[in-house]
Amino acid sequence: MSPGIPPADYSLYIHVPFCRSFCDYCDFYSVLLPPGGEGNTLVERYINTLAADARWLFEKFPAATIPAIYIGGGTPSVLGAEGIRRLFGALGELPGLGRDRDRGQDREWTVEANPESLDGEFLHACREAGVNRLSLGVQSFSPRLRALVHRGGPVEVLERALDLALRFFPQSFSADIMAGLPGQDLKDLLDDIERLLIFHPAHVSLYALNLEEGTPLWDRAAELPPQDKAGRLWIRGRDALERSGYSQYEVSNFSLPGHESRHNLRYWGMKNWLALGPSGSGTLIDDRKGTGLRVNWSADLALWLAGDPARPGRLEQENLDRLSLMKESLLMGFRLSRGPDAPLFKRRFGLSPEEAIPKTLAKWRSRGLIRADPANSPAGQGPALTRKGLLFLNSFLVDIFEELDPD
Ligand code: SF4
Repeated sequence: MSPGIPPADYSLYIHVPFCRSFCDYCDFYSVLLPPGGEGNTLVERYINTLAADARWLFEKFPAATIPAIYIGGGTPSVLGAEGIRRLFGALGELPGLGRDRDRGQDREWTVEANPESLDGEFLHACREAGVNRLSLGVQSFSPRLRALVHRGGPVEVLERALDLALRFFPQSFSADIMAGLPGQDLKDLLDDIERLLIFHPAHVSLYALNLEEGTPLWDRAAELPPQDKAGRLWIRGRDALERSGYSQYEVSNFSLPGHESRHNLRYWGMKNWLALGPSGSGTLIDDRKGTGLRVNWSADLALWLAGDPARPGRLEQENLDRLSLMKESLLMGFRLSRGPDAPLFKRRFGLSPEEAIPKTLAKWRSRGLIRADPANSPAGQGPALTRKGLLFLNSFLVDIFEELDPD
């Protein structure tokens, strides 16, 4: 494989494809981790395969620097302290990924965890390896709502996990909350936010529940609140977060000043990232040509464990032509409150967002949903959806796609 892309900065996503149980709304790729020795053997094979893939990937795509690492899933915390130590050990052997603290490198390193599988020893192992950010899937404190979507664990477990997060990552933990769960009303959501904020997370993701085809919840769509009610719920949740000092910087993400997710900002900014693990997907961009290369690992654990990157179907590459990359850059960039990075867009595509989608911007500006004329914006900043405009992101994106691809 010869991507023709020079060594660049990229962030690294590592997918841990194991869960202890499945939540009804989830369509992330994962398998149930068997208990005991069988599970340990599977984890061992997973880590050995991951280490071999990582060596291969780093050789193919040498990194200039790796400003962010994100270990997500699935549920990374089901690896336990021993498993995550082995994973860190495998990564530590890679060029450029040793001990950050020893080299004083400023790298964001996030690990996702579920309260039910979190303990102090796991967090200690993370912190020891240089992890400096934790992302905790809380979703809701309500036992009734949790049971309805088969999200395990009693409330005491959530509070214990949040206590641990606060103790180990006091300035840098994030938590997810969901709006639009079956049976959820405004009081439920505001209670969830109030109870979460007692633990002072630096970052909160407030997700509107998305009904994904193929999930158990898909067949129970009638139980969900109507869309307009779910939308109003989310707005009240947003307002509660903002009143407490959290700024919305992306459609579903809020942070205290300086605590935005650097790794996710790279996705939304369409800046290079690579991925490891089954279903992991990376994107490398050639700024000079305005094209990209997508590198996808198979979402089939058995095939992925077969080990050889050259094995058919295990690793797929897809070229992103200029138009596809431009669309994706706008799709991702307009998720951000500050909009797409206009100077980077111009460097890649030879035109500004204003020049790429003038009709869409004029239409939405006339409705007052695009921020003021970019000439009046801070230096370098291009068009962005207003706070209200972000609520209509999907319709805005449809207009962009129709303008760029009228056929
Ligand atoms: S939401 Fe998280 S814990 Fe639940 S099934 Fe999906 S990946 Fe597993």
